[in-house]
Amino acid sequence: MVSVFADARKRLKTLGKLSAVCEEVIESLSRPKATLCVSLPVLMDDGSTDYFEAYRCQYNAYLGPCKGGIRFHPNVTQDEVQALALWMTIKCAVVDLPYGGGKGGVCVDPKKLSRMELERLSRAYMRAMADFVGPNKDIPAPDVYTNARIMGWMRDEFEVIKAEKQPAVITGKPVNMGGSLGREEATGRGAFLVTEFLRSKEGKAPQDIRVAIQGFGNAGYHIAKLLFDEGYKVVAISDSKGAIFDGAGLDIDEVKLFKDSNRSFDMEYGENSVCESETYKSISHAELLALDVELLIPAALEHAITKHNVDMIKAKWITEVANGPISAEADDILFKKGTVIIPDVLANSGGVIVSYFEWVQNKTAYPWALEEVRMRLQEKLKICFDEMWQYQHQNENTSLRMAAYAKALKRLEVVVDLRGTKEYFSTVEN
Ligand code: NAD
Repeated sequence: MVSVFADARKRLKTLGKLSAVCEEVIESLSRPKATLCVSLPVLMDDGSTDYFEAYRCQYNAYLGPCKGGIRFHPNVTQDEVQALALWMTIKCAVVDLPYGGGKGGVCVDPKKLSRMELERLSRAYMRAMADFVGPNKDIPAPDVYTNARIMGWMRDEFEVIKAEKQPAVITGKPVNMGGSLGREEATGRGAFLVTEFLRSKEGKAPQDIRVAIQGFGNAGYHIAKLLFDEGYKVVAISDSKGAIFDGAGLDIDEVKLFKDSNRSFDMEYGENSVCESETYKSISHAELLALDVELLIPAALEHAITKHNVDMIKAKWITEVANGPISAEADDILFKKGTVIIPDVLANSGGVIVSYFEWVQNKTAYPWALEEVRMRLQEKLKICFDEMWQYQHQNENTSLRMAAYAKALKRLEVVVDLRGTKEYFSTVEN
């Protein structure tokens, strides 16, 4: 089985060299600071006890407390969590947040749990991690198959254990429990904004851009909706069960209504798949990726595009909403082909940026209006996108990913130096 973490480290090494960042700094960024691995015993509704493997990785804290989501998925492994935590380290550095990188996960199929089992699992996770995480140490958030309600349970469990209010221990909470307005849409909105910046640089009209989106969860839905409202032609969408296509463009509101229609109040996960819709033609996952579109948006899981299917990709632009959807090898091939890729570390950073806003609001006990959140998100992403764009256009043979990594690694290198610990790594005699 391919190690996602090994692939992430390979990219780090290659891009570190290209950015002329000190080798010792890259070496120190090639391994996590600490990863806690635990087994969570959970009482099931039938009276039995099941055990779930769970992880929290604090990858790097040079820039501030660790920050990163918690994933509930049957394929979660320590390897995957560490790769995701490495990317969080780069992401927080790219968008100038005072955070290091972290990530967590539980190996579970949450769709098979009842609401009560899901709550017990979420609380068990926080109980196991309560001394490891904290508002100034490591701040979790939602990721695949976790949501605001789960973050709310975890905040509550942490506060029961610590016997005091600590809203800033976790972000992506329900708004009524200290969450930020605009957090739920933030990942999709951020990805939409950077796509709009690219479109305006390339001088294209939205209606001339056909889009295929892999994944219709939190991030995938929100970018689909914003692109649809802006006039882009979203021709294909998928979820874990399959995909749909319409050359004239899908009606995203209708697709969303169908996806949610078979879902009762006490269900965290809907049962309908987009591919069961009778309005649109059903296609396979592989066919969606190979569509002749201007813009492809992987918004599901890592390594959707590898050396095995990269030759099928026809899209001119890719906005990486998922973390690590393109393997390092496939990335090289797309770069040589001239595909413009807005890298994950910038494209999906809207989520962590608004999580940071939530943390600031919690720490100051002063909630912001939705318009303020949206305006500050746009301002930050515009500055970061323009920096990447300028770097790419001033340096020959460079991609936006190389530009993003160069900025992040330089920022980390400077901080290592300023903290006065460089000599611990340095092999050079002073
Ligand atoms: P989610 O749980 O809300 O949705 C995941 C979606 O992916 C679901 O629609 C699921 O059906 C679909 N999916 C799973 N396997 C698939 C497959 N093989 N093909 C097509 N679709 C598939 O998760 P999310 O929060 O939207 O996260 C999606 C991606 O975005 C992940 O890579 C995540 O790490 C990344 N991301 C999320 C956030 C956030 O704030 N939620 C922030 C940054 C990055």
